[in-house]
Amino acid sequence: MSLLPQESLLNQPEKLPRPYFESLNAKLPRLQAEPHLVLELELESYSQFQCTLCGDCCRLPWGIHVSKSYYDQWYAVFDQHPSGRFRAPFEVNQEPKEQAYASIRRQPGTATCVFLESDNSCFIHKNYGEAALSLTCVKYPRMERDFGPEYASRSLLHSCTAAPELLESWPDLIVCFKDSRLTDNLPLALGPGQPNRWLTYLWLGLALDLLDAPQPDTVLARWRLMLPVIDWMDAIGLQTLRPEQMPGLYYDLMARLPFAGLQPSAETNQRQALDWSLSFLSAHPGAHTWLNEIRNGHEAWPELDAEERVLLDRQLGAYLRSRLLSVPYTDMFLGELSFWQQLMVLGIQTMVLQWLALYYRRQSGGELTREQLHRAVNAIAYRFEQRSKMVTEFRLNSLSPEQAYQALGVLLSLNFAEAQLWSLGL
Ligand code: SF4
Repeated sequence: MSLLPQESLLNQPEKLPRPYFESLNAKLPRLQAEPHLVLELELESYSQFQCTLCGDCCRLPWGIHVSKSYYDQWYAVFDQHPSGRFRAPFEVNQEPKEQAYASIRRQPGTATCVFLESDNSCFIHKNYGEAALSLTCVKYPRMERDFGPEYASRSLLHSCTAAPELLESWPDLIVCFKDSRLTDNLPLALGPGQPNRWLTYLWLGLALDLLDAPQPDTVLARWRLMLPVIDWMDAIGLQTLRPEQMPGLYYDLMARLPFAGLQPSAETNQRQALDWSLSFLSAHPGAHTWLNEIRNGHEAWPELDAEERVLLDRQLGAYLRSRLLSVPYTDMFLGELSFWQQLMVLGIQTMVLQWLALYYRRQSGGELTREQLHRAVNAIAYRFEQRSKMVTEFRLNSLSPEQAYQALGVLLSLNFAEAQLWSLGL
């Protein structure tokens, strides 16, 4: 569902052909000629979403925000409902903003929304129709990012239980030119340390093509090839790098696959990555304790069989592809991070995703399953993608470009989809 007015569409949305770099590069001249246009990238899974009425998102301990106008229109209606079930339905936020003025109250002693019924239906939807829902509830889990003429993307939030399966099943990209002046979404502010409009589409195309490349044979090994690319971009400088320089880099990299700049998974990096994993997983006591046992040699190092490695690799690919669309510019939850810092955060999320999936596998006592991987993706979303405190806790926003991509190299050294992952000698 797009909330952009139809008249802003300048062509029918179309599937973006691979290789993505070439397709996006071919669209740049139009963007350059018509500065008010934006090329919107939409994950195919975005339009495939249908609510399964699981009710999970209505029970999570996050703020369900309503706007000031929604508050004014509906507060008294629910507050004075004859059942008396919805007294004081909204609580004004500590820092009220027009679009996030108040939050829906929870059922006593739980994180469950006061409007969630015992059959997982929504009282508001059932009695007043979809039009009466707050924008947060109508849109969830659809994530729309609009940066005026700079960039626009449509994807799904990973916290929704339906999202991981959809991301795997509908991996293509849909693109469309839109008139950015006609959007009814407020353009988000551009953060510092970001590539410009043209470069954004080109590095994204390059990164997506790397994920799809036939060699090296795991997603994270291919993703490690981004390290020399971002090193090169940093050496030239985002402000001086010109779009015309990108095709040379792209074709050179693709011609040298699978060996271009490939770094071995050094033992020291993996040991460091394990230590960092312990810090990041402190928010998850169960997984943290298990990891600590591994670190101290009291638990076996997890090893996957060939089938499990394929499952993990496929999920990592789907996750990275989806998250990449959110990297350009300000993060909705984590705030302003530079291009390099965003990529490093992506490395943290990828590493933690693996550990959580392995932890769920350990708990089950069986083989790794798609359900465990999907559960890990959901957990990453609300524990790491939307945890704004993580930025200050680990001072991620103070990392220089070099520190950020060196850290990314460390994080990517833990790749459980690889057949011969060094195992700390434990
Ligand atoms: S208002 Fe309805 S849809 Fe929104 S969180 Fe509550 S129960 Fe869920």
